Amino acid sequence: MRTDTNRTVYLKDYQPTDFIIESIDLVFDLGETLTTVGSEIRMHRRPGADPAAPLVFAGDGLALSGLALDGKPLLPERYDCDASTLTIRDLPEDGSFTLTIKTRINPSANSELLGLYRTSGIYSTQCEAEGFRRITYFYDRPDVLAVYTVTIIADKQSCPLLLSNGNLVEEQDLGDGRHMAKWHDPFKKPSYLFALVAGDLTMIEDSFTTMSGRHVALRIYVEHGKAARAGYAMDSLKRAMKWDEERFGREYDLDIFMIVAVSDFNMGAMENKGLNIFNDRLILADPETATDDDYARIEAVVAHEYFHNWTGNRITCRDWFQLSLKEGLTVYREHEFSADQRSRPVVRVDEVKFLRAHQFPEDGGPLAHPVRPTQYLEIDNFYTTTVYEKGSEVSRMIATLLGPDGFRKGLDLFFERHDGGAVTIEDYLKCFEDATGHDLTHFALWYHQAGTPVISVASFYDERKQQLKLTLSQTTPPTPDEKIKKPLHIPLRVGLIGPNGADMAPTAITGGESRKDVLELTKDEQTFVFEGIGARPAVSVNRDFSAPVKIRFDQSREDRLRIAGAERDLVARWDTVNALALEVLVKAAEDVKAGRPVTTDPALSDLLVATAEDTALEPAFRALALTLPGELDIGREIGADIDPDAIHLARNTVIEAIAEAGADSFAQLTGDMANGGAFSPDAQSAGRRALRNAALVLAAAAEKSPRRASQAYESADNMTDMLAAMRVLAHQFAGSAEAENALADFRRRFAGEPLVLDKWFSTLATVPGENTLERVTKLMGDEAFDEGNPNRVRALIGAFASSNPTGFNRPDGAGYAFFADFILTSDKRNATLTARLMTAMRSFEALEPSRRALAREQIERIAAHDDLSRNLRDIVDRMLK
Ligand code: ZN
Repeated sequence: MRTDTNRTVYLKDYQPTDFIIESIDLVFDLGETLTTVGSEIRMHRRPGADPAAPLVFAGDGLALSGLALDGKPLLPERYDCDASTLTIRDLPEDGSFTLTIKTRINPSANSELLGLYRTSGIYSTQCEAEGFRRITYFYDRPDVLAVYTVTIIADKQSCPLLLSNGNLVEEQDLGDGRHMAKWHDPFKKPSYLFALVAGDLTMIEDSFTTMSGRHVALRIYVEHGKAARAGYAMDSLKRAMKWDEERFGREYDLDIFMIVAVSDFNMGAMENKGLNIFNDRLILADPETATDDDYARIEAVVAHEYFHNWTGNRITCRDWFQLSLKEGLTVYREHEFSADQRSRPVVRVDEVKFLRAHQFPEDGGPLAHPVRPTQYLEIDNFYTTTVYEKGSEVSRMIATLLGPDGFRKGLDLFFERHDGGAVTIEDYLKCFEDATGHDLTHFALWYHQAGTPVISVASFYDERKQQLKLTLSQTTPPTPDEKIKKPLHIPLRVGLIGPNGADMAPTAITGGESRKDVLELTKDEQTFVFEGIGARPAVSVNRDFSAPVKIRFDQSREDRLRIAGAERDLVARWDTVNALALEVLVKAAEDVKAGRPVTTDPALSDLLVATAEDTALEPAFRALALTLPGELDIGREIGADIDPDAIHLARNTVIEAIAEAGADSFAQLTGDMANGGAFSPDAQSAGRRALRNAALVLAAAAEKSPRRASQAYESADNMTDMLAAMRVLAHQFAGSAEAENALADFRRRFAGEPLVLDKWFSTLATVPGENTLERVTKLMGDEAFDEGNPNRVRALIGAFASSNPTGFNRPDGAGYAFFADFILTSDKRNATLTARLMTAMRSFEALEPSRRALAREQIERIAAHDDLSRNLRDIVDRMLK
C-alpha cells in the first residue's frame, strides 16, 4: 500500500489483455481473521496474442497458498509471485486452460475498507476501483468481463445471511455449525462489480413488476432494529425503477435486487450487480433522525446506484480514464430523476450551488484535471466532482444541443450498440452523432480540457434597428496540466425580458448557430444579433445553468433587479438574487479588511424581504433566495488574499442589516411555515420547513436573542427543524446557556444513534471562531467518535477542515497543524479516506500571505514523510507543485 511512485498509468498505454476470461468460480471460507479464497478461472489466449506472453495478474497485499493449472500444482519455476503480481509462464500451447488460485486474507485487519473487510460483525466487500486484487490475484480491470459463481461458507450463527451478485442457486447446512450459499450471476461483469456480504442483518422486502411483466424481488438489508427506517429507500427504489422505464426505456434484468446498508464505508454507495452496498447514512431515515436533505440524498443515491445497472454495469468502462462514461452519465440521470420527483428549478439550483462550491474550485486549483484524465498515479483520487458533476453537465449540454428527442435517440443507440461492452467516451459520443447527424467533434473538447470557461458578455440595443446585439467572448484560465486553452462548443440559453417582465421573442437570431433560445458558442468571440426587439430588454444569460461556466456581465443594476424580480426561469432568477447578495458581501469584506465601516445595501434587503414574502413563489425557492452566500462562497468569489475573519465579520454585519430590515416578516414566516399535522418528507413540505428555518436564522439575528431558536428546538417534532434550531443556537449564540443546553440535550437524546451524532459533531466542528479547535480536539475523545469510521471522521475532522473557515484558518496556524497530525495518523489506517480529506486544503494558495505560509508549512511537513500512501502522496505532491 505504501508509495510506489513510478507507477503512473497513462491512457495512451492502454492494451487489451493477452488472455480472455470465460468464467470465475469463487469459494470463500469466511473466518474473522483468516478467510481463504479459492478461485477457479477458465480462460483462453486472445486470438492474435503473442503465444509466448506470460499471464500477469494483479494482487495487493495477498498471501498465495495454492496455485494449479488444469488441476496440477504449478512448479515454482513456472511462476513468480509477490504481494502485487502473479506472473505465470509457459502456458499450454493451445492457450486454453483452467487456473486455480488460493489466497489467505484477514478481513478484520482491513482498516482501508477495500477488498473484503469485517466491521461491526459484518463481512462486506468494496472492489471499485482496484479492491478485487485485495481478495485474489486477477485481471482486476474493467475491460475483463466474466461470469461469476460464488460459494460462501460461514458460521451459521454469526452469519445467517450469505449474499453475492445474481441469483441464489444453492443453500446447504454443512452440519458442523456452518452453512453455505451459492450465487450465480448470469451477466458478465468486471471484477469491480463483484460483491459479497455475510452477517446477521434484518431486511424489508417488496417487489416490482417490470414493464414487460417480470417480477422482481426487492430487499433492503439493515442492522437489527432499523428496518422501519428503510422504508423511504425502498419507496425511492421503486420510483427509480419505474422512472427509468418511462424516461429511458430501461428495464431491470435479474429476478432480485438487493441493497445492504453498512456502517463503515468509504464512499456513498456502490452499484455492485444486483447487490448494491450503501453507506447506511444513505439508506436509513425517519422523521426523528433524518433531515429533509437526508431524504433527498437518499432518494437521489438509491436512484443513482440503481441507474448504474444500465449505465455502468450492462455497459461499463474500457479503462478507468473513462470513469465519467458511467459516473457523469449516471449523475445526469440521477439529476433528471430528482427534478421529476421534486421541484425542477429548486433541484437545479442545488446542483448549481454544489458545482460552484466544489467543482469550480477543483477546476481552478492545483488538482484540476479534465473530465477524462490522461494519466493517474492513484485512480481512487479521481472519483472527483469533475468526473462526476462536470461529467454530468457535459451530458446535459449534449441533451441541450440535441434536444430531448435527439438525446434519447443517441442513448437508445448507445444501449443497443454497446450492451455487454466495455467502452470509451468516444464510443458514447459516436452514438449521439450517428443517431442524430450532429457533429460533436468540437464539443468533445469538454472531456479533454480542464478549467472553467469564463464568458464575458456585452450587450448593445439599437432602438432604430430594433436589434439587440450580444457579444460573447470565452476564455478558459490555464490549469496545471495545460497553459493554452481552446474555445469550447458551449450551449448558452438566453432570455430577453421586456419592460413588463415578460419574455420578448426575436423574429430572428443571426451571427451564429442557435436552437430556439440556445446560442451555440464555438469561437473566442461572437456577436449574435436578435432582430425585432421593440424595447430595450434585460438580458438573462445562462438560463437553467445551461453551461457550467462563469459569466462576466457588467449589467445595469436596473436590469439585474428586473431579472431578480420577474425572470420566469427560476434558476437564472435565483442566480441574479444570489449574485447581488454576493456583490454586497464581497464589498463588505473589503471594507472590513481596509478598516472602513461596512456599507450595506438597502436595495438588497428590500429584494430579499420581497422575495421571502412573495407567495406566488414556492417556499423552497424563497428559502434559497433568503439563504445568503456562505463565508466559503464569499471567499471563492474574492479568490485571492483571503482573510476569513474579515469575511466572517462582514457577513454578520450584512446579515444584521437584512435581518433588521425584514424583522417582522422573518418572525412571521417562522410561524406561518410551521408544520401543520403529521410530518411528510415530500418536497413541498420540505420547502416550507426550509423557508421557516431560513427565516429563523434572520429572525434570531434581528432579535439578538436565542429565545426563538431555543423555543424552535424545544418544539421541533422532526430532525430538520431540530437541527436547524440547534445550528442557529450553536453558531449564532455560541456559548449561551441556550446553545449549551440544546447541544447537551441532543447528545443525550441520540446517544445510541451514531448517524444522528454525526450532525452534532458537524454542528460543533463548524462553530465559527478560533476556539473551536479546542472543542474539536476534545470531541475526538468523545465515546461516540471512532477514528476508523469514515462517517465520524468526515463529520468531525472533515467538517472542521472544509466548512469552518474562521476556526480551521486560525491566524496562528494551529488548525493546520492539528489537521496535518490527523492526516498522518489516518493515512496509516485508511488511505482513500485520508487523501479525500486532504483535499480540504487544496485552495490554500488563495489565503492571505501569513496563513498561506503556515498552511504550506504543514502540507510540506506531510510531504516530507517518505512512507505516505500512494493516495496521499499523489494529493500533497500535486498541491505543492
Ligand atoms: Zn456512480
